[in-house]
Amino acid sequence: MTATYEGSGSRSNRRLNTVSAGDGDPRHGKYTTYTNHKCHCDLCRAAWSEYCRDLRDRRAEQAAG
Ligand SMILES: [Zn+2]
Repeated sequence: MTATYEGSGSRSNRRLNTVSAGDGDPRHGKYTTYTNHKCHCDLCRAAWSEYCRDLRDRRAEQAAG
């Protein structure tokens, strides 16, 4: 059985879309960076918690009518 492994394509398979803490990426500080890029640095976490609080406030307002 001769399986020819074609190593074409994925040579350097690093993601360009990665955001990590302290890399100076301008996307830090957005809740989307927390959710989409799974960056849990201080800035993104703060944005996420703020977003959650805002969401809860809006739901409370809607519930109140
Ligand atoms: Zn971040």
